[in-house]
Amino acid sequence: MQQKIDLATDLLRQAVREFSSVSFATSLGAEDMVLTDLIDRHRIDIEIFTLDTGRLPEETYSLMQQISERYSTPLKIYFPDNLAVESYVERYGINGFYDSIESRKACCLVRKVEPLRRALKGKRAWVTGLRRAQAVTRSNMELSAFDAEFGLQKYNPLLDWSHKDVWSYIRNHDVPYNRLHDEFYPSLGCAPCTRSVTAGEDIRSGRWWWEDASSKECGLHAAMRPSKTQNAHSLTEKS
Ligand code: SF4
Repeated sequence: MQQKIDLATDLLRQAVREFSSVSFATSLGAEDMVLTDLIDRHRIDIEIFTLDTGRLPEETYSLMQQISERYSTPLKIYFPDNLAVESYVERYGINGFYDSIESRKACCLVRKVEPLRRALKGKRAWVTGLRRAQAVTRSNMELSAFDAEFGLQKYNPLLDWSHKDVWSYIRNHDVPYNRLHDEFYPSLGCAPCTRSVTAGEDIRSGRWWWEDASSKECGLHAAMRPSKTQNAHSLTEKS
């Protein structure tokens, strides 16, 4: 376990060494709380930000408050453009995302992807808490790869961590986490698009449960291409 922690910390430091202007996009899920703790604990110079879609559960706002009280690294919050949200609602309805994949993706575009583009403007690299085991769409990801969608390098320090690894880090370091995880919500997002899962169900099955598993990305992590300079690859081999 300590080896995985060291490798993740090394990868975060490597991102700063190689790209200097680095951001961490936290969704405030369990994995992202591990990364928040590592960045703050080791004083790694990475900006931490999150997206408030306007449809988050109350428990997520409580966690944002806890983060600002616990950590010295500030949590910057980006909001959607109000005119874009108004226009979405006019066209699709306030809960129009249930009607089709197209209307769901249009909502994610307005509430998540556009604010993310704004947050990443001027950055050269970004960090995420994605894990390979979370979804079929993530099985071929790499620790570090060029993200063509956003035009910058993307680092996934917890890619090869297991669910158990994440929770043992949280317990051992007393890291704050979203209380919805205790109510069988392994993967968190907007309130209307997330539900609890039962034992044995896939951990992403509570997200956009009315859709096929292969379409379950919101556009934030759609385009992954292998890095030309795969320095991080050596870290994979050691783990
Ligand atoms: S997860 Fe649901 S509510 Fe949130 S941005 Fe996507 S479609 Fe909209």
